[in-house]
Amino acid sequence: MDIGGFQKNSLIDFPETIACIIFTQGCNFICPYCHNPDLVAGPQKRAGNLYDENKIFKFLKKRKGFIEGVVITGGEPTLQNDLLLFCQKIKNLGYKLKIDSNGTRPEVLTTLLKNKLVDFISMDIKTSLENYHLVIPQKFDPLKIVKSTRLLMNKAPAYEFRTTCSRPFVSKKIMDDIGKMITGASKYILQKCSRDVNVLDPDFVTTDKNFFSDKEMLELQKTIEKYVVKSVVR
Ligand code: SF4
Repeated sequence: MDIGGFQKNSLIDFPETIACIIFTQGCNFICPYCHNPDLVAGPQKRAGNLYDENKIFKFLKKRKGFIEGVVITGGEPTLQNDLLLFCQKIKNLGYKLKIDSNGTRPEVLTTLLKNKLVDFISMDIKTSLENYHLVIPQKFDPLKIVKSTRLLMNKAPAYEFRTTCSRPFVSKKIMDDIGKMITGASKYILQKCSRDVNVLDPDFVTTDKNFFSDKEMLELQKTIEKYVVKSVVR
């Protein structure tokens, strides 16, 4: 595993679970508002050393009983070749496991679920299907996103979908399209896009029109709430 970051504990990243967070290095997306810009580049291009996996397992063995779960986020975890083995090792230690994913590799999510290696999946939905080319530079079939949403809704023990809301990736029309794609989903989170952090494209955060006001966020929520069981703005 290419691990670019490690946080020893968190009370907010895994619902009802005290967890540590493992950040994988490398992502296939280029979201301009990305809050983890250092993790987007592949491991060869990373400035600084990667984390030693063995040290993380040593920590997990020692903290058993104090920490209940592990979150693997990124970057994009499903790009890691040895993710399954890594997850298996975590599960063997008795931890609950949550994966955050952009949903581009439903085949990896399928294997994780089939092998009962994951307890919770949080999937980002970046925009409507026809706009995915705005965040993924290489050729990509957006139907993979649909496949991942179906998979989570039908097979995941627990899941949530979430969208970082900013223009041009989100509008009322786009929110409506997302709602149609995930009709019946148990939980959908609309995340306000933050301007006060280091992001992948610094010009993006200096452009006012990219951001929604609190009132506009509630209007977006109104658009989608009829499609899902529960929607949350945060
Ligand atoms: S926000 Fe997530 S999917 Fe987008 S570039 Fe950053 S790590 Fe990748």
